Amino acid sequence: MTPRYIWFPSGRRPSREVMVGHVGLGGSNPVRVQSMLTSDTMNTEACVKEALGLAEAGCEIVRITAPTVKDARNLGEIKKALLAAGCDVPLVADIHFKPDAAMEAAQWVEKVRINPGNYADSKKFKTREYSDVEYAAEIDRIRERFTPLVELCKERGVAMRIGTNHGSLSDRIMNRHGDSPAGMVESALEFARIARDLGYHQFVFSMKASNPKVMIAAYRLLASRLAELDAAEKAAADGSSYEGWNYPLHLGVTEAGDGEDGRIKSAIGIGSLLADGMGDTIRVSLTEDAIHEIPVAKALLAARDLRTPPAEIAGRAFPCNDPFSYVRRPSAPLEVNGLKLGGEETFRVFTTADRWQALAHKIDRLGDFAPETTVETSGVVELDPRDEAAISDLNHSAQAHLVTVRDGLDMPVITAFRLLSLRLDARHPILLKDTLGDFTSAEGAAGDFLPCLLRAATNIGALLCDGIGDAVLVRGEPAPGQSLRIAYNILQAAGARIFKTDYVACPSCGRTLFNLQETTARIKASTIHLKGVRIAVMGCIVNGPGEMADADFGYVGGAPGKVNLYVGKVAVKFNIPESEAVERLVDLIKEHGKWVDAPAREEVAV
Ligand code: SF4
Repeated sequence: MTPRYIWFPSGRRPSREVMVGHVGLGGSNPVRVQSMLTSDTMNTEACVKEALGLAEAGCEIVRITAPTVKDARNLGEIKKALLAAGCDVPLVADIHFKPDAAMEAAQWVEKVRINPGNYADSKKFKTREYSDVEYAAEIDRIRERFTPLVELCKERGVAMRIGTNHGSLSDRIMNRHGDSPAGMVESALEFARIARDLGYHQFVFSMKASNPKVMIAAYRLLASRLAELDAAEKAAADGSSYEGWNYPLHLGVTEAGDGEDGRIKSAIGIGSLLADGMGDTIRVSLTEDAIHEIPVAKALLAARDLRTPPAEIAGRAFPCNDPFSYVRRPSAPLEVNGLKLGGEETFRVFTTADRWQALAHKIDRLGDFAPETTVETSGVVELDPRDEAAISDLNHSAQAHLVTVRDGLDMPVITAFRLLSLRLDARHPILLKDTLGDFTSAEGAAGDFLPCLLRAATNIGALLCDGIGDAVLVRGEPAPGQSLRIAYNILQAAGARIFKTDYVACPSCGRTLFNLQETTARIKASTIHLKGVRIAVMGCIVNGPGEMADADFGYVGGAPGKVNLYVGKVAVKFNIPESEAVERLVDLIKEHGKWVDAPAREEVAV
């Protein structure tokens, strides 16, 4: 059966309340902000200091990795020290591969996160067919391993996150569903069914991926499947009370990286789903000190446009053909000021005439961040997507036109462009804008960069991931050069126009075997000019290889001071001293024919 997409445009997806210690997730609670420590779990003092800093910054739930039973036991010491310091922030143990560590952690913390891809399975990347009988036997095996944890959590009132990650699905799921949003959803549901059978309901779901398009699709598919299961349960109950499938959602883009790119990727994934009305808690995952994640998460929540869309589209099916997998809206190719756009052409970057003028003296030195044309000279048709007469005129015109939403409308940007794409004949290309004219907003005028960046990334990025848009215009950021850099970086993060290397970098945690921030910076310095190459920088061999998603090359911590290098998911160089590893990575990229020398040109910074 084709899943039905549920869009919650006029508010929030209804969910039950799940308590994590004293903090409620879902229900009528606000969307909670959480983060994860980067300190070594065995270093109690460092963990306490980091957790106190996070709590003070507004982090409402703190996650800590528990790679071994010993680490899990130390969570008790961390908890004690935090309480002694007057901090009752709930703690979450992050578990991969080790049911024993989960059982120990559940004695000390308020929530346990398990990864259904590796809780009861070690990854072997085996290709095999499972008959229904064999598959059922696998589920029985999982039930046996998972039941003790569920019973312990139920008894102690400990919450759980069933947290699926793209790229670390079990071999069983991979063979039946592939490394796909459908596989991610089914992986989580296998564990949820077991928990429900045992009468345990204090859990939430997550569907993280480093690719925002995959992440968005997986959460939408999950919300849709949960709604179907809920409806079936309700029908079967036939008027009597029933246990719903309305579990809260934890949103996050995993391995988003650092700096502007990490913030943009997070805003696209998380912001898009918040705009759909999904999400009960969020974690912005940056390859930076964890404390930097909090202002970004708060700004993303503050940037949500909660205005109720017009009644005519509230509750309507989502405008794109297929919200669960990416399809670009099929417009006709068009030439604007000698620039080809629409159809299968490159996504274009527009600016305004005054910004073009301000940059005129250095436009030829802006390199990959140069504007391509101005909106004023483009002949773009601006309209209100609710204006049926204007839409009808365009749809009956013989020619294709570049179309955008008119400024000053009382609609959220995403809603307005979705409505436009729903009503406009598909052959007309669409110019996306980050704002509808409220670009003289307080934050823009005050030069507050972060809200402008996140709003542009959320609005334009979410629409690009929906398949809508052929050109983009960023005006919320007042600095002309920065607004162009943001526009190109959004196109890159949404996978719409690749003009530089793409990085998948884990945020680091207590398992990390090298300094991730410094190493990522060194790798970037050597490889940033490689268009279309995807490089993963992962702190440990336990989780790193599984979560590199579809990276071309991987730089993974193999042991303290030693690095393993990967081509795709295959390890090809082992135990390279850290001091040589970046150079050896470059050699590997050269060996595989993906290297080009950096262009020798004079460019100005934007
Ligand atoms: S890949 Fe990174 S964040 Fe994930 S467990 Fe390993 S070190 Fe921690």
